[in-house]
Amino acid sequence: MSELRFNELRGEPVAYAVDRQERTFLPSRAKCPLCPTLPGGPETEIPVSAYEIAVFDNRFPAFEAPHGAAEVVVYTDDHDASFGTLSPERAQALMWVWRHRYSELGAREDIDYVFIFENRGVEVGVTLHHPHGQIYGYPFLPPVPGLEVAADARLGGCAPCALLAGELDDGRRVIYENDAAVAYVPYAARWPYEVHVVMREHLASLLECQADDLDGLAGALQAVARGYDALFDRPFPYVMAVHQAPTGEIRTGHLHVEFYPPLRSADKLKFTAGSEQGAGTFVTDILPEKTAAELRGAVARAA
Ligand SMILES: [Zn+2]
Ligand SMILES: [Zn+2]
Ligand SMILES: [Zn+2]
Repeated sequence: MSELRFNELRGEPVAYAVDRQERTFLPSRAKCPLCPTLPGGPETEIPVSAYEIAVFDNRFPAFEAPHGAAEVVVYTDDHDASFGTLSPERAQALMWVWRHRYSELGAREDIDYVFIFENRGVEVGVTLHHPHGQIYGYPFLPPVPGLEVAADARLGGCAPCALLAGELDDGRRVIYENDAAVAYVPYAARWPYEVHVVMREHLASLLECQADDLDGLAGALQAVARGYDALFDRPFPYVMAVHQAPTGEIRTGHLHVEFYPPLRSADKLKFTAGSEQGAGTFVTDILPEKTAAELRGAVARAA
């Protein structure tokens, strides 16, 4: 069982999922729990010999009913694929799976925020290489989406709408755009290669998206993921965070996806240290305009 405590000094909850210490850590390929179960072979987490997308409860949950949820979303049965290399059709299907999980988990009384995310690469603590993401259903509004709600109030309207308009107007940090979504390195990015993919229209969540919106979102996310891999010609680690309207008392938001890559060059990590951890202020040695120009080139090369 996990336990939730409130950290008074920070004003935020901290979750303790003590069983997680025992979880599978970088198993050999033959023991991958997310691969299909082959005839005559050992049973994996997925008891079928082939599949497209699989969703199931996390065996080592940080949150579980009746106080939230933790699910695993496996993108493909191909162990060596990645989000960026999925076929466009599969990436689009994944958007529908995300939409369905947002709808179902968001409808639950005990879930105030549905958070879809992917950790990619050992640099961000990945314990399984098989391409997959996760979904947490939090029984409260977590601090980061809470800050976005506060940004709307501070700006007197939708913050992503205002920020997107500013980025399109400036143009220097835009790295990719299509009919549905725009990808840019934010004006005040915290990570050197941070990218936000923002829906052009004010759509609160995946539930407000039509098929064209989801196709455009999938295309933009894959363009960014492939551009990342092309940038330094290596698998690019990142955290991918889907932000959308909370599902508790507050229900306003603007669907967008944020990528936080921990690299500051091909082989150097950006560590969060004294200023970032102790004072909460990111200090970064590359301007967003420069990393955006590099990423724009990489996205074009990878297209
Ligand atoms: Zn696998
Ligand atoms: Zn908006
Ligand atoms: Zn956000």
